[in-house]
Amino acid sequence: MSELERIKKREEALLCRTYGRYPISVQKGRGSRLWDLDGKEYIDLLAGIAVTSIGHCNEELAGVMEQQARKLVHVSNLFYQEEQLDLAEKLLATCHCGKAFFCNSGAEANEAAIKLARRYQQRVKKRDAYEVISFSGCFHGRTLATVAATGQARFQDGFAPMPEGFTQVAWGDIEALERAISPKTAAVILEMIQGEGGVRPVQPDFLKAAVALCKEKGVLFIADEVQGGLCRTGKWWSFQHFGIEPDIVTSAKALANGLPMGAMMATDEVACGFAQGSHATTFGAGALLSKVAEKVLEIMDRDKLHDRAADVGAWAMDRFNEVSLKHPGAITTVRGKGLLIGIELSFPGKEVWEALLQKGFILNLTQEKVLRLAPALTIEKADLDSFAGALEEVLQEKGK
Ligand SMILES: *Cc1c(COP(=O)(O)O)cnc(C)c1O
Repeated sequence: MSELERIKKREEALLCRTYGRYPISVQKGRGSRLWDLDGKEYIDLLAGIAVTSIGHCNEELAGVMEQQARKLVHVSNLFYQEEQLDLAEKLLATCHCGKAFFCNSGAEANEAAIKLARRYQQRVKKRDAYEVISFSGCFHGRTLATVAATGQARFQDGFAPMPEGFTQVAWGDIEALERAISPKTAAVILEMIQGEGGVRPVQPDFLKAAVALCKEKGVLFIADEVQGGLCRTGKWWSFQHFGIEPDIVTSAKALANGLPMGAMMATDEVACGFAQGSHATTFGAGALLSKVAEKVLEIMDRDKLHDRAADVGAWAMDRFNEVSLKHPGAITTVRGKGLLIGIELSFPGKEVWEALLQKGFILNLTQEKVLRLAPALTIEKADLDSFAGALEEVLQEKGK
């Protein structure tokens, strides 16, 4: 039995079977490199699903962790913790929001956003509004409320009944949105680029019309920036490409570069929806996590990782388009923004994905046909160039 087989058997005996794993056991990482059990090296184009944005095992972060781990890790939110305030100050400086609530994941950030939107409508605006409208192809998380918002049958299978008050309309359909909004509508939630949904960017005209419609009807607009936020698309937040100011913004994935942390931000006005005791979490932004996330933001700002993501991302998309030109018919589109890139194939991509993994490139396949890249924002062009070369080879080998 191989080492990997042995681990697989052990896992089957010990863990709930919720995950389909890649056939790799990762042993260590550094920057945009990973190494498996056999010491095989990989170029990581996925970064823990848009999480390790400043690379694996960043030295500066390791230093912060070591130091803070010996000072204070967690005391709960029963106490004042200035580390949270240092973090909040840096985070809020990146956008128009006035208040933050810290939690532990993307789903929890969205859960907090949904709760805040309902409570703001019901307690501040005195409206009997609770419904949340989302869009086909979206992904907002796996808690019951966020999976209800996500709305995909495969994520809801066997979990009935879903919580009430969630409806979904077609992605980009402004008339459908207009029809769906009623006096019961509390909020609309959307990703500027649907990540899990196959790297599908929002249409700017639709977005502007949706924001205007929300404003007109007193409906809150929630930007789910869990994947697209924190410099990935070339700005701090992907909504900033469109000159809009959402009422609520959610974040997680890259916030602590691999430690579990989420944040919900809201305008001062909307944040009034929460009162003391309205919402809470035991772990939210402990001292260690806060220090790490603060350092992540400091590095992103200092090293201008938004600009870097924009430059390197644009360069990579050009490079992938070259590959596409050489294999007309195999690649339908290269799309995305900054370093959130989807390469859509004209055929199911499992074999291509497998062949790329064999060649040492880690990325993921969404919606069957879309190769998704969400590498560290610090990735070198040379690594993306090697990937483009490998993709070309694979398409050649497969006769595509
Ligand atoms: C990953 C993701 C989530 C859920 O985050 P978790 O940390 O897995 O709960 C929510 N929204 C978007 C857009 C995501 O990409």
